Amino acid sequence: MEDRIYNFAAGPSMLADEVLIKIKEELFNYKGSGMSVMEMSHRSKGYLEIFENTKAGLRRLLEIPEDYEILFMHGGATGMFASIPQNLLKGKTADYVITGNFAKKAAQEAEKFGDVHIAYDGKENNYSLIPDENELNFSEDPAYIHICANNTIYGTEWKKFPKVESVPLVVDMSSDILSKPINVSDFGLIYAGAQKNMGIAGFAVAIIRKDLISETDPKVPSIMNYELSLKNDSMLNTPATYPIYVLGKVVEWLEEIGGLKEIEKRNILKAQKLYDFIDNTPFYRPHAQKESRSLMNVTFTTPDPELDAAFAKQATENGLSNLKGHRLVGGLRASIYNAMPLTGVEKLIDFMDRFAKENG
Ligand code: PMP
Repeated sequence: MEDRIYNFAAGPSMLADEVLIKIKEELFNYKGSGMSVMEMSHRSKGYLEIFENTKAGLRRLLEIPEDYEILFMHGGATGMFASIPQNLLKGKTADYVITGNFAKKAAQEAEKFGDVHIAYDGKENNYSLIPDENELNFSEDPAYIHICANNTIYGTEWKKFPKVESVPLVVDMSSDILSKPINVSDFGLIYAGAQKNMGIAGFAVAIIRKDLISETDPKVPSIMNYELSLKNDSMLNTPATYPIYVLGKVVEWLEEIGGLKEIEKRNILKAQKLYDFIDNTPFYRPHAQKESRSLMNVTFTTPDPELDAAFAKQATENGLSNLKGHRLVGGLRASIYNAMPLTGVEKLIDFMDRFAKENG
């Protein structure tokens, strides 16, 4: 492990060493089966045990109530952008709150399937903040309200979710799921692509209130149909067997270290250190406004784009990789998901300090 670097990528992203070690141990011969998990039939007894344990572990970790189902869906979060309106719209309008690029993509995809009402769009502030509740302009009787919990590209995160009364709140938690405890009952549907805090790319997790799964239009493609997925226990066809196994390992790791309260504590500490340093170093300017800052994606710039590029290059040479910001925001972005240790953030701060002194 000693030649591993600190990977600040937005996703796919770092896995905890503990998770990788476990995977390596089990790679060639999973629990005496004589084969790797990758080679197992998804219908085999051995794999079904992994599958059920992963679901049960996720339910324990997130304290998912009995009236919610866990579905493993194909197509990542983008697949969910398309399946959500097809399953939940039912001829009504859906409200979308646009706080960033992925929220916008979700709305654009939904428009292909029915009426979409934009309840808010933060483009004027370049998506640097999360709106106040009174800035959200909901339609009369929406089928659901969609928000993006953490805006990966812009580095903003909802601290308190909007009150929506009886309308199902649908939330994209792709970049902050498992980073802190949440109250699942506040939502109709929570979904996330797996490749950040849930392991590796290849599927999406959907946690959905049971009563929202009903009378699905038979024209909805089977692979996107929540009712069929539930009926077939997420095995309508071959599921993403290995990524689901990796999620199980991530869940085990989180439970071993003390669960979501403990990881939240660690995440707050990491983010606070980094934001404090940025706030106290005029060479760096943060993108997100203070009260909207993400614990997962920290966005900032140096005084000019050439220095941003030099920063990213020199950081890589110092074992700190993937710090270049997304092209929509420019600058730099440090994604500090669950698996990024505090030492990684401390090394980054040391480097930032040196870089500011040399170039300021
Ligand atoms: N939503 C958010 C918040 C994301 O960060 C991403 C990917 N970075 C997506 C959706 C798209 O995810 P996927 O690649 O799994 O479709």
